[in-house]
Amino acid sequence: MSAAAAPVKPAPTTKGVVAFLKIPKDGAPYLAGSKCSKCGEVVVGTRDVCGKCGARKGVEAIKLADTGKLYNYTVVHRNFPGVPVPFISAIVDLDGGGTLKGNLVGVEPDPAKIKFDMPVKVVIREVPQKDKDGNSYLAYFFEPKA
Ligand SMILES: [Zn+2]
Repeated sequence: MSAAAAPVKPAPTTKGVVAFLKIPKDGAPYLAGSKCSKCGEVVVGTRDVCGKCGARKGVEAIKLADTGKLYNYTVVHRNFPGVPVPFISAIVDLDGGGTLKGNLVGVEPDPAKIKFDMPVKVVIREVPQKDKDGNSYLAYFFEPKA
């Protein structure tokens, strides 16, 4: 009986917490979207077909803007054990198109200090947790734009 080679564990890497957070080999991480060349619709993530006009050709991968405006939010006071609360779960309309949910940081979770339509910027940073294989993860957040 021959000894089987021990499985080689890949070296830990840094990954995006969501598929649309891209980490290029060269350059800064970014949020990826799709733009329809027929109707101009912009959405978060990659699509083969336009959800607005139904075009099956001409939907192209784009880099989404790293700025936008706060569309809506909620202050979350209860969550899973270990998740610090309160925090602000926000919905942001990105400049140039695309709408997504994420946490708004850098402002107190107090409705008196949060304004609808306030300009925000997308910040991408490593989260402190690693998975069981030692991989680290980048996540995106929104911060008030100075
Ligand atoms: Zn379209």
